[in-house]
Amino acid sequence: MRFYICREKGEPKPFRIAIIGAGPAGLSAAGYLACRGYEVHVYEKMPEGGGMVAFGIPETRIPIRTVRGGVRDLERLGVNFHFRTKVVYDSPRELGDEWAEHFVSLERLLGEFDAILIATGAWRPRKLKVPGADLPGVYDALSLLHHIKMARIGYYSWEGIPDLKGKHIVVIGAGYTAVDVAIEGRLLGAEKITMVYRRGLEHSYAKTEIRKLIEEGVEFIEFATPVRIIGDERVQGVEFAKTRIEEGSVITTDERFILDADIVAYAIGQLPTSPIREVVCANEEILKEAGIFFAGDVVAPRNIGTAMREGKERAKEIEEWLLKKAPKKVFPVPVAARLISEVANGKC
Ligand SMILES: Cc1cc2nc3c(=O)[nH]c(=O)nc-3n(C[C@H](O)[C@H](O)[C@H](O)COP(=O)(O)OP(=O)(O)OC[C@H]3O[C@@H](n4cnc5c(N)ncnc54)[C@H](O)[C@@H]3O)c2cc1C
Repeated sequence: MRFYICREKGEPKPFRIAIIGAGPAGLSAAGYLACRGYEVHVYEKMPEGGGMVAFGIPETRIPIRTVRGGVRDLERLGVNFHFRTKVVYDSPRELGDEWAEHFVSLERLLGEFDAILIATGAWRPRKLKVPGADLPGVYDALSLLHHIKMARIGYYSWEGIPDLKGKHIVVIGAGYTAVDVAIEGRLLGAEKITMVYRRGLEHSYAKTEIRKLIEEGVEFIEFATPVRIIGDERVQGVEFAKTRIEEGSVITTDERFILDADIVAYAIGQLPTSPIREVVCANEEILKEAGIFFAGDVVAPRNIGTAMREGKERAKEIEEWLLKKAPKKVFPVPVAARLISEVANGKC
């Protein structure tokens, strides 16, 4: 997998850039900047690069060796990788944090680098908030997929990963994560898989992949949303309400139905995981003036291609910013730190 193709490396430039997150966005930005001759340091909490592509997407769809090849190309280009290193500011504990052995503060990076790119993705699964969602047998699909992938590539043993053989899995959602949990379910011997989506198949950006799954025997129910997980000791079923779409919004109706289930995996979206917690609140223009840029899923849901394109675009902006503003020291580091602190304290 090529994250950036460097035809000719530029002369060394007197600026240092820190990139937080080694997913497609961070890696393509790192490739662009290293190719232009900048000193690039990538901080990544996981033991290797690739982001969701390495640690979420099933091995049958994108094998880890192709991702590793792309990361090796960047190392050869001169990108400095700091793996198992989490950059922290006010970030809470997130999926994958157990791999971090070193913790570096964002303030320290602000002091040591001329610009920073935050490309930390969206690793916090949105929680299913219906009665019974805490019952054993109910999983957020992203964590389930992440653990299966870690087992497949040798980081985890299979112990602790639920046995899906012969089970009926109800998957809630219709995005990439829902599709991938259905794929892994089939590979791991589930007897029956039912995907349920609150909108219509045509509304899903993963409709091509879902159509393929339907051909392979996965059941797909559209226009339904879960209202209750049923079970005593563990999950036994899910009660759904039928939905309809009015002016683009999902309306829950009174019509109900129940599906039996041994396992429920919900994939209802992921939230951005930035070292500055409230990216939404963060005034991106102010942060940009302070030399802090964002790219990829941390901004809004993307796909691999758009995350890589955005990484490269942001890298170009960083270069422009460095050449125009940094030499004049318009926004020295303490100012940047204060801005971040104000943003993080909700003063934006
Ligand atoms: C299950 C699943 C399947 C998908 N399937 C497809 C598909 O088929 N096709 C497609 O185009 N897209 C797919 N996507 C979407 C695609 O993977 C993402 O859009 C893309 O990976 C986003 O890239 P990114 O670099 O923004 O973030 P990520 O890939 O999430 O990378 C972010 C990186 O930042 C690291 N990080 C986070 N916080 C910190 C921190 N504080 N310090 C240090 N490191 C940190 C993370 O460990 C991670 O490596 C899928 C996503 C999922 C979850």
